[in-house]
Amino acid sequence: MPHRNTGTSAAHQILMLVGSGRARSRRELAEALGLSPSTVSQHVQGLLTKGLIVEGEAGESSGGRRPRELRLVGRTGFLGVVDLGGAHARLGIARRGGEIVATVEVPVDLRADPSTVLAGLADELTALSESLGLDGPLAGAGIALPGPVNVGLRTVESPSRMPGWAGIDIGALLERALGVPTVVENDANAMALGEHFAHTPRARHSVTVKAGSAIGAGVVVDGRLYRGTGGAAGDITHTRVGAADDTPCSCGNRGCLETVSSGAGLVRMLREKDYPVTSTADVIALVQDADPIATTLTRTAGRHLGEVLCTVVNFFNPAAVYLGGALSTLEPFVSAIRSQIYEGAHPLMTRDLAIEPSFLGADANIVGITRLIDEALLRDAAG
Ligand SMILES: [Zn+2]
Repeated sequence: MPHRNTGTSAAHQILMLVGSGRARSRRELAEALGLSPSTVSQHVQGLLTKGLIVEGEAGESSGGRRPRELRLVGRTGFLGVVDLGGAHARLGIARRGGEIVATVEVPVDLRADPSTVLAGLADELTALSESLGLDGPLAGAGIALPGPVNVGLRTVESPSRMPGWAGIDIGALLERALGVPTVVENDANAMALGEHFAHTPRARHSVTVKAGSAIGAGVVVDGRLYRGTGGAAGDITHTRVGAADDTPCSCGNRGCLETVSSGAGLVRMLREKDYPVTSTADVIALVQDADPIATTLTRTAGRHLGEVLCTVVNFFNPAAVYLGGALSTLEPFVSAIRSQIYEGAHPLMTRDLAIEPSFLGADANIVGITRLIDEALLRDAAG
């Protein structure tokens, strides 16, 4: 199992490096990946045999043997990505290899019929790609969803914010509308994958926390997503915490982390103090304006999240914790999480632990999804 993972990952990394132009020869690949020339040659040969890359004319001579240039087959293909949020969707067009060409945000109503919503998003994506005058068609598509996802069935499970979507093959609907293979993934997982590969030096194992209206997390082990048995790994938002008492949660339970640490929780707490806030964006604006009560509540929210993350860090011993989502743009929130982890987790866990803000910001989910689409296309091609 570990051997197969390493092989797939190296082949995928080679496709990404060649596709993005960051490496054009076996020598450059060996340098970029830190692998031996013979290991790289073995993977390159496998990809050549499968017809996923081709070998071009010899490049410029630099004294020694002239390197043969490697190119990705179908490099002209573009990827269409939807990052679905509670009230907005962020749409992106990317090159194979992950480079984002353009993004746009459109409003969505998750209470509407899913097939209508997805057909509308597919139209927007098509319009975006046409407006760019791309030199090739879409090769694949993907969507990040705000709920636990069954990636095999391409469904979202018990989605509290989108009840009408349960059990629907979201991938099939988008696939039909766009006419290309489509992958479906949970948004925190997509963010985790995007962030994992965006940071240098690259961590072997990382946890990425998405703190917005709810709290999600994604786990990457040896460069691959760890989804858990039911696709819900990292879904820490409904962990019961003492500080939440009996506060009712969106999941129907009581006392979840979400009620004291999330944007939705902060909205509720501020409304109890007669602040006219309705969204996480309103909370963020108050903290940015240094409102003392909003700032104190946000710091406390970060502390509660940090307490739960101590368990995550002690259990999983990652090399890095990346903090994404709208709340992670707030310094009081991030510093409270950071100090809570450094105080509360075992020194052996925190000694070499990096706790860093998101590198990709709002594009993290889109970048993560492009990796999954590329992997799926590679799998399809590999048969
Ligand atoms: Zn809950």
